[in-house]
Amino acid sequence: MARKTTNTNTDAPARRITAARSVSKTAAPKMPPKTAAPKTAAASKIAPASKTASPSRKAPASKGAAARLAAEAVEASAPVRRRAVANAAAAEHGRTVAAWSAAEVVEAFTRFARRDPEPQGELDHSDAYTLLVAVVLSAQATDVGVNKATRGLFAAASTPSAMVALGEEEVARHIRTLGLYKGKAKNVVDLSRLLLERHGGQVPADRAALEALPGVGRKTANVVLNIAFGIPTIAVDTHLFRVANRTGLAPGATPLEVETGLEAKIPDRFKLHAHHWLILHGRYVCKARLPDCPACIISDLCRWSGKTTL
Ligand code: SF4
Repeated sequence: MARKTTNTNTDAPARRITAARSVSKTAAPKMPPKTAAPKTAAASKIAPASKTASPSRKAPASKGAAARLAAEAVEASAPVRRRAVANAAAAEHGRTVAAWSAAEVVEAFTRFARRDPEPQGELDHSDAYTLLVAVVLSAQATDVGVNKATRGLFAAASTPSAMVALGEEEVARHIRTLGLYKGKAKNVVDLSRLLLERHGGQVPADRAALEALPGVGRKTANVVLNIAFGIPTIAVDTHLFRVANRTGLAPGATPLEVETGLEAKIPDRFKLHAHHWLILHGRYVCKARLPDCPACIISDLCRWSGKTTL
């Protein structure tokens, strides 16, 4: 399947990128774990370290849309603190495990690629500009929540000039369901103004230029460079951080340390999609509170000592 193209002409009429889900629908997860077995939390238990899940275990079926949405809702409603605790435990554990061999890394990403050759992000957008805005809004928010907020926002303004004209107050009104919405509204209007002043209304395909925009940090820049411009960056969010540490693939105490480790270990041919494979794996399988190890396609490679069983 051809990779989607992104219109970087930010003042052009907004178009829904074909690979993105229809905005008219509630944002359903784009890539459910295709081997994941629906399973209630109560049905899982923590396995002793010596009794890990069989790598060859097959999940009975893909999760249905309702189950996926329910799982997303549960995960989204989990306190940020709970995820932070899980990630801290993962980072602690990551320091103690044996490093992956090059062959193991290739094996893991070969499996991800086989399962989902063209992984997609889950933030609705129509071009590089709307992607940038969506990613800026996604801090401390779920993709589902951001998609709900941007549906109205992008209908009102989908270009930098239209966003500036809309103004901070109106932007805030559209995104008021998101945490930190007042600060985010200011950043969106300010970055739109700067795109017009510095870049002719275009989103620059340059890390330094992106990070110079308000509300744009390294992770946001990496996402935009990867999705909008096809640059093989690896954005480390909370899910990647946890997966990299739990598995031992790229242990690190900080997102940058994990990013550097992943860059060094993942072969170039897998780098473009590595971010999406790992983020979706962390979101739907290697979840913070209760990883779904029986449905995990890399459980035999994973170094996590607290794997769950059916
Ligand atoms: S779900 Fe996570 S912790 Fe469990 S086996 Fe897979 S990668 Fe390891």
